[in-house]
Formats: sequence, C-alpha cells, structure tokens
Amino acid sequence: MSSPSLHVAVRSVMRAFPGAAASGSAACASARLRCLQSASPSASYPVTAPQNLPSHAQVVIIGGGVIGCSIAYHLGKLGRRDVVLLERRRLTCGTTWHAAGLLTSLRDTETQTRLAMYTQGLYRRLEEETGQATGLIQCGSVQLALTQDKAEEMRRGALAARCFGVECHEITPAEFQRLWPLADASDVRAAFHFPNDGRVNPTDVTQALAKGARAAGVRIFEDTPVSAIERAHGRVSAVVTPRGTISAECVVNCAGIWARSVGALAGVAVPLQAAEHYYMISEAVAGVHAQLPIIRDPGRSAYIREEAGKLMVGLFEPAARPWGVRGIPEDFAFAELPPDWERMAPHLETAMQRVPVLLQTGMKVLFCGPESFTPDHNYLMGEAPNLRNFFVAAGFNSLGILSGGGAGFVMAHWIVHGRPPMDVWSVDIRRMQPWQNNSRYLCERIGEALGIGYQDHWPFRQWETARDIKKSPLHERLRAAGACFGESVGWERPNWFARPGEPARYRYTWGRPDWFERHAAEHAAVRERVGLFDQSSFAKLLVQGRDAEQTLNRIATADCRVVDGRIVYTQFLNRDGGIEADLTITRLADERFLVVTAAFTRTHVEAWIRGHIEEHAHCLVTDISDGYAMLNVQGPASRDLLQQVCDADMSHAAWPFGTAREVPIGHGTALAMRLTYAGELGWELYVPSSFSLGVYDTLVSAGERHGLQHCGYHALNSLRIEKAYREWAHDIGADDTPLEAGLAGLCAWNKPEGFIGREALLARRAAGPPQRRLVQFLLHDPDAFLYHKEPIYRDGELNSFTTSGMYGHTLGAAVGLGYVKCAAGVTDEFVTSGKFEIDVAGRRIPATASLTALYDPGNERIRR
Ligand SMILES: Cc1cc2nc3c(=O)[nH]c(=O)nc-3n(C[C@H](O)[C@H](O)[C@H](O)COP(=O)(O)OP(=O)(O)OC[C@H]3O[C@@H](n4cnc5c(N)ncnc54)[C@H](O)[C@@H]3O)c2cc1C
Repeated sequence: MSSPSLHVAVRSVMRAFPGAAASGSAACASARLRCLQSASPSASYPVTAPQNLPSHAQVVIIGGGVIGCSIAYHLGKLGRRDVVLLERRRLTCGTTWHAAGLLTSLRDTETQTRLAMYTQGLYRRLEEETGQATGLIQCGSVQLALTQDKAEEMRRGALAARCFGVECHEITPAEFQRLWPLADASDVRAAFHFPNDGRVNPTDVTQALAKGARAAGVRIFEDTPVSAIERAHGRVSAVVTPRGTISAECVVNCAGIWARSVGALAGVAVPLQAAEHYYMISEAVAGVHAQLPIIRDPGRSAYIREEAGKLMVGLFEPAARPWGVRGIPEDFAFAELPPDWERMAPHLETAMQRVPVLLQTGMKVLFCGPESFTPDHNYLMGEAPNLRNFFVAAGFNSLGILSGGGAGFVMAHWIVHGRPPMDVWSVDIRRMQPWQNNSRYLCERIGEALGIGYQDHWPFRQWETARDIKKSPLHERLRAAGACFGESVGWERPNWFARPGEPARYRYTWGRPDWFERHAAEHAAVRERVGLFDQSSFAKLLVQGRDAEQTLNRIATADCRVVDGRIVYTQFLNRDGGIEADLTITRLADERFLVVTAAFTRTHVEAWIRGHIEEHAHCLVTDISDGYAMLNVQGPASRDLLQQVCDADMSHAAWPFGTAREVPIGHGTALAMRLTYAGELGWELYVPSSFSLGVYDTLVSAGERHGLQHCGYHALNSLRIEKAYREWAHDIGADDTPLEAGLAGLCAWNKPEGFIGREALLARRAAGPPQRRLVQFLLHDPDAFLYHKEPIYRDGELNSFTTSGMYGHTLGAAVGLGYVKCAAGVTDEFVTSGKFEIDVAGRRIPATASLTALYDPGNERIRR
C-alpha cells in the first residue's frame, strides 16, 4: 500500500491539475488530441487506396510504424522495387503516433550514436525531399547532473561524445539558467549542452518516410494484418493475411509491441515486453517557446520540452509497469492506457519541480501509452538466428524515433547485401537467447529496463531484477566462499570474492571501489600461485559429422585440420574480413569438435556455424553448454595442484600448451584444456555437471596447500588486459580485421580451401599498413581508473578512444586497449614515436603505448 506522503503527493497533483481525477482513457485521448501539435494521428493523411495484394514480393515488411516505414524508405533508396509494407490498421497507429519525438544523439555505444546522428541528418532533409513536413525543431538539449558522481559520468560521456563526433559542451548552472529562465537550477552541479539535438513530429516523420518509400515504388497496404507466416526448408516463405497470401523472399518483423507475437508466428523468439510509458502536457505556460532546449534531468527521471506553448514532462521512472502481458488487444490502434495516478504522481511532482511554474499550471493530459522494452535496454535488429531471411527490427526502448532513420538504413543494407553496413552487435537480435522470451523474466526485467537510461551508469553496475535465473552447479559453494555475483545473459557469475564477514555486494563509485583490495589479491594469486575461476557459463557447441572438419576449416581463420586433442584459437570472419567471433575449437575425435565461446555469443556463434554448413554436408551442431561446468585453474602452481589430484602426467613435455585430454579428477572426469586467458600456466576443466561439485571439492581441498584463491570475472578481465588479450564485442568485432586487431598471425593464409574473409584481408594487407591498430596502454598515474571509451590523444591530438580498461595490479596502474588511427597507416614507428595521453574525466594522463603485451611479451610464463 502506498505511503501517506504518496497520497499527499497525489492530492497535490490533483489540486494542481483540475480534471485529473476524471482522466480515463477516453478523457485523456480527447484532451491530448486537442492539445498536441501532432493531434491528427490519422485524419490528415490519405488512407492507402485499396489495391489487390500481390501474390509475391521480394520483401514484405510487417508494421507501418516509424521503423517499418524507414526500412521501406531505405529499401526504396537501394533500388528495391518489389517491396510491400503491410499495416494491420493505419500507419503510425501503434506506438509511433504518440511518441514525444525527442531526437538526442549521444547513446551508450558508438554504433547507436552513429544511428542517432544519421537519423538527425535524414530528418533534416526529409521534408525537402518528400514535401511532407516533419516538424523538426533543432532546439538542442541540456543534460543535468545533480550529484558529483553524475557530473563525472556525464563528463566522461561528453568526452566520448567528442570521440563519436557529437557536439557537446559543458556549461555552468548559470548558463543553463540563462538558456532556461523558468527552470530552477539551484540543485544543478553540472550541465551539458548538445546544440544539434532537437525534436520532430513522429507521425509526420513516418508519413514522410512512407511518402518517400511510395515514390520509390514501395507498395503500402493498410488494414492488412498478417495472421500467419509460412516457412519452408529453414527459410521464411510467405505471409498470410485476410486479403490473401504473399509469397516472399524476405520478411521483416517491425510490429512494435506486437513483434513478439508476430515472431511467434514464425517460431522466432523476439524477447520484448510492452510497458506503460508516460508524459504529461500542461496548459499554456507564459514564456516558453519552441527553441527552449530539451531538459534531460536523470536525477528526476524526467525530460521536459516545449509543446506548442505548453510544456511536456516525460517520465522514465525507475520501476515501470509491464502492460499487455497476456497479449495486446486485437483492436488496439491510436489508443492509450488509463494512467495510474497514484503510481505516477510522486514522479511527476519531482519532475515538475525543475520548472516550478508547472506546479501552478493546469494539466491538459497525463498520457500513458505502451512502448516495448528489451532485457538489456538495447533494440533488436537483424536476421533471426533460426529462420533464414526473417528479419526483426523491434524493441526500441523509447528510442525508436531518434534511432528510426539509422535503423532503417542498417536494416535495408542488411537485407540487400546480406550483412549490416557496420558493427551493430549491441543491437543484434543474435545476442539474445531463446529462453529470454520467457514472459516472467521479461516482465521482471522490463520494470527496471524502462528507467535504466536515466539512472546512474556506474562502472560494473549490475541489473537488479530478473536475477538468479541461470546458475552454475557450483553456485551455492561459490556464494559460501564470498562470491559477489554479476549477471551475463541470465547467468550468475562471481565477479569478485569478499573476505569472510565482509558484505559481498557492490557500492558503486567512479573511483577506487571497496573491492579493490580483493581484486588485487585475486589478481596476484593468479600471477603468483593459483586461482580458481568458475566459467560454467561458457557456450559449448559440439560440431560433428563427416564434413565437420571441412565446415569449420572454411569458417575459421586458423587451420582446423589438426590431430585429436589439439586446441585451435581462432576467429570467424565475415566476407569483408571483420571479426564475427573469437573462440577455441578443440578436435575431440576424427569427426567431432568442441567449439567454446563466451556465454553472450552463444546464439550468434551457433547460428554462424549452422548458416555456413553447405547444403548436403554432413555436419551437425549440438549445444551442450548447460551440460558442462567449467572450472578454470590458472597460475604457476596450477600444474602442481592438478598433478596432485589426477594421475595424468601434467608436465610441459607430456602436456604441451594448446592440447586437451580427458582426465580423472577425484571421482569425476574432466576434459582438461591447457589454455589461458590470464597469461599464466593453466588448465580449463570441462566437467559434466553431475561431476562438478565433486571435482570442485577435490580442487579446493587440494588447493589449500598451494594457496588456491577463488577468483572472479573482474580479476580475469584485469589479467587478460595486462596480457593484451582481446575481448570480442569490446576490442574486436565485425568492423575490425585481424590485421588491425593484431591477430593476423593466427590466419592460416595458405589453407587449400582458404577461409571466409581471406581475399578481403589479402587485399587490405597489400594496400599497406592498416589505418587503425589495436594498442595497449598503461597509465602513468597509479590512482586513475579506466573503464572504456576514454579519449586517446597522440601528440596532443585526439586520436581515438579505449575499448577496454581495468586496473592492472601487476603493472601497477590502469591498463587499457584501444585503436590508434593514422590515415597514412599505423606503423610500429607511429606508435612508438608518439606521446600518448588518455583523458580520464577531463584529466589527460600520460600513458605508455605498446603493440606487444606489456606483461610477459615473450609468453614465457605460459609455455613452461
Ligand atoms: C509515451 C512515449 C513517448 C515516446 N517518446 C519517444 C521519443 O521522444 N523519442 C523516441 O525516439 N522514441 C520515443 N518513444 C518510442 C517510440 O514511439 C517507439 O520506439 C517507436 O514508435 C516504435 O516504432 P515501431 O515502428 O517499432 O512500432 P509501432 O509504431 O508500434 O509500429 C508497429 C506497427 O505494426 C503494426 N502491426 C502489428 N502487428 C501487425 C500484424 N500482424 N500485421 C500488420 N501490422 C502489424 C501495428 O499496427 C503498428 O502500426 C516514445 C514512446 C512512448 C510510448
């Protein structure tokens, strides 16, 4: 039940807004339609003239919101004429019509920022091109920090913005006050101005995109719901509507909050969930005008912008409410939801205090509409992992308008050319796993996801909802050992271990964390003695069959024609030579290989292998991830420890680096691989789950005399960065080639069958030194911390930014990785002759740059 203060707040809002109590859906709808500039969601646009549905189309797009129309527009631009867009009711009738239309550019990742910037550019020229107004107003935006920590976060963000090409200036609270005379700036610690941001009318933008698409030959059918999707031979083949069936070479699911159920029609998991999303529009306020910058006020979970002489206050409350959990009503179109006054009033009141005149101004409407959110607050784009030519673009987390242009551009390119024009991993649907379509999981997580963009983005911040979903068999043992868990695609994984009696939880900070000493101890244990990591979350794929070797050998850059028991560390490349995966392949037997990759790449790697099995080839992929725990024993004493618990000869001569075999440990058996991601002597033990507790107990009890230390992922991260080992999706990805990433030495250039991406790499290699190269950096100040996205300066000039960063306890300071750029080619001399600095929250710190690992460059500790 709500607290008395909440009731006071509700009452005060009711007083402030006569008519609020009467607000139900119908009242709200009519009020909003009266007051919004974009008040005519359907009336002023022509309904598509009825036409006969074609029986065939190259591309069928399902959904006529901003995303579907943007994809249609961009397919038209790419010359695709045979494109059909099907909308169940009217264009924009889902979520698009009621969006607030904010266009902000700086996002969490470079990719998403680039898509937002592309969108702004497109919307600027759309009106001239199509003759349809878009309502674009370039009023800028101002982000406010109310605490020192938030100021540091935003300052770091502003530095990243510069690296991404976004114009951003820190301004004083007094300058903010001058920009926004009606605002109360008394609690503002720092403010950041983005002059190129703005807003649009989402309905108009969508209609302009539709107009542009039609002009390019795209056919748009309204009142045409897709009721079934047909498949044949692993591909999508047709869509069924009440007006007929269209056979299609490619189908794109842009169904917004319906995308999950449309995905289900095709057997494709689209993990998203609708939630209530709110904004309020006031009565007219004297002194407001269209050029007032949008206020983004995360400390109050709110944004404020002008709306035709009134003010709009939008909310991103920290605990949101899912909606439509049992399905979206069939007739839901241009509709809104009854607002929950009691829940929202405190948030609204807090938000309105930013512009105090709002507390004395009447309210036109408190609007509540549904928007879809995803478990990690990033949208879902790309080809479904389990159905060829079925694409998804949905789950836009209240970013669909500001990302819509870029999303359409990327999707159209992907559909036409078979892959996206840039690395879009952070929004690729293949980062999701099918279990994430679970309704309970989605509802729990979405409650947190809606507001996450307006929360503090601390380093190492963990999700708080939908936890304890996937656990290693060792979970309780690790908890008892003091594990502080983090989460990755549902897996609970120890990030660090508290001492007995210490709380195993985070207290977030931008500075030195309170687990710093624990991290240092774990790091040192691996360097000096032996550490035990639980990495059971690893994805394990068995690739078997007469053609398994040939299949893997064509996909992998390294030579997979190795003897049984040999481990191959390799990359998968796309046709342009970009790195799609970074993993190990172990030959278990003549026709049997084990592929091991990070948990978060499981769906992607499996789909990549399956997608490259040639027709009629005898090659089967089986996901055995959940059947095996993985205990990783790393450090100079790992050999002695393992020798104590198993009969096999662990000596270097008998067990060279990069080889694997089955060994008994205690009463159990493990597939032991001599490998390292920490830069030390070590073995990864793949243990059937049923044996794992026994093997763990055996190792822990024997480990006592070797000084065995439980270690978490934070230690693994610092160990690997000191050794300059790359992490896929951070340091390497689809936009980086092995030449740039320093991994060309792993390519078996002369394999008779070659490998995917080889020709592109050869062409680049012939062109001279790459224009970017991954470099390791060590800060000269032992008190500064790197996280990633910190700007890198060479000889005083902004050059690039870090892709990874962590405190390197052996090297004695923060260590990071990042690409160094030079148009004439990055030679060794370019790196060694430069004077490098890294900007940490506004302080440029000199750094050593190195093309070889600063820790153990000769690999002596590994191969002994
Ligand atoms: C209150 C609120 C404020 C927002 N403010 C902003 C903002 O300021 N900036 C921003 O960037 N974003 C904002 N958003 C988010 C933005 O509105 C959405 O991300 C965006 O509109 C999603 O577009 P879409 O095309 O994916 O979905 P939709 O607009 O919902 O389009 C999907 C379409 O698919 C159709 N469809 C569904 N099923 C079928 C079927 N079986 N057959 C045929 N058609 C089908 C539906 O009828 C619908 O028209 C806001 C959202 C809300 C709720």
